[in-house]
Amino acid sequence: MSEFKTIIEPFKIKMVEQINVTSKEERLDFLKQAHYNPFLLNSDKVMIDFLTDSGTSAMSANQWAGIMQGDESYAGASSWHHMRDTIYDLTGHEYILPTHQGRAAERILYGYLGGKGKTFISNTHFDTTRANIEFSGAEAIDIVIEEGKAPKTFHPFKGNIDTKKLEDLIIEKGAENIGGVILTVTNNSGGGQPVSMENAKDVAAICKKYNVRYFLDCCRVAENAYFIKHREKGYETSTYKEIAQELFALVDGSIMSAKKDALVNMGGFLSLRDEELASACKNLLIITEGFATYGGLSGRDMEALAIGLKEVFEPDYLHYRIRSTAFLGEKLKEMGVPLVWPIGGHAVYIDAKELYPHIPVHEYPGQALVCELYLKGGIRTVEIGSVMFGKYDEEGKLIPSPMELVRLAIPRRVYTQSHIEYVIEVFEKIMEDRKNAKGLKIIEEPKFLRHFTSKFVRVA
Ligand SMILES: *Cc1c(COP(=O)(O)O)cnc(C)c1O
Repeated sequence: MSEFKTIIEPFKIKMVEQINVTSKEERLDFLKQAHYNPFLLNSDKVMIDFLTDSGTSAMSANQWAGIMQGDESYAGASSWHHMRDTIYDLTGHEYILPTHQGRAAERILYGYLGGKGKTFISNTHFDTTRANIEFSGAEAIDIVIEEGKAPKTFHPFKGNIDTKKLEDLIIEKGAENIGGVILTVTNNSGGGQPVSMENAKDVAAICKKYNVRYFLDCCRVAENAYFIKHREKGYETSTYKEIAQELFALVDGSIMSAKKDALVNMGGFLSLRDEELASACKNLLIITEGFATYGGLSGRDMEALAIGLKEVFEPDYLHYRIRSTAFLGEKLKEMGVPLVWPIGGHAVYIDAKELYPHIPVHEYPGQALVCELYLKGGIRTVEIGSVMFGKYDEEGKLIPSPMELVRLAIPRRVYTQSHIEYVIEVFEKIMEDRKNAKGLKIIEEPKFLRHFTSKFVRVA
């Protein structure tokens, strides 16, 4: 590794995408038109877009070259072989089913294994994972370790599963009623926190003991491998790919949204060892996604995915990726911005309840920070608090979410050090002006997923 402190982006820029630089006055207008919900803003009104890391990666020159070489033959396409061989090399799973994105693979696998009376157990089910399981009639139970729920306690692997709870649950529900155990690496809904190899192995032993299926939700498996190499004893000399291969060796199958660590804008897959299960899933794939050699993907998508899945394990890339996310988090922490600690792989989470103690939860401190970040700096983020998860009791009173967080999700290979320095400067202004931030009131909301389309007004 380099002797210098500064971590340079390990790439040069060949093509640029214009950012429209806006003024504070313009942004106030735009935000009013968007009813104080930046989800409703057109992207050309945003300067730094931290809404999500999903499907927002910048592709490499090699990936773009691969796009040109995509083989669009209906059967026997070379791009399919390239994608299949790359995934097989990584997972060692014999049956590989391409899908148009992660949730399509979830619908097929969990729809088939789920149904009334079944239970799935995970560190934390991602929202589409939970939705697909519950839609099948099954239940989804999260059992991340206690440290994973405490925003400020340091633990190197806050994404770990509570193995005692896992064993108790399998016994309580009956092993035959467990649809599967799903290990999400890194734990997206739990702050992008990693899972240790030791924990992944302990879970494997329990699943084996009770003959329960074990799957990896591997959207961010390369990022998780980085944390294992640098935080867990015994992996100092392993490559990131070897660590990932060891994780895949433990499980019966995996699901990936390639929009994360495969560095593409669309795509996914399901990988399985069991022939019978794979054959059942393949039938569902053909009915709803496409023939087994392309799922919902075009040849060029599969080509870019295969190349991205190799690039993501390059040491210089991963070092830059994890350290640049941590750099932002560490600078904000030094400045006194309350946040979830330690910093996970793909995002920084700010504790808005602590930042704005004068804004009560029913006036949505997280949404207030989302609006302030946009007004002051043109930065788009997302509230993960009572706007997203709040419910109402019978009298119509808000039942708040346990935490009021704001997520800054960092797209891969998109922003440079100076963009990050700018974000840090915007936070200096946020801190100076924290007492003046105002809460919000919802004036219009849909029944489900209200963070997407709710409309707000500022509380005077
Ligand atoms: C994004 C994501 C999914 C769903 O994938 P899509 O490609 O968005 O359908 C599933 N699990 C995790 C952990 C994710 O981050």
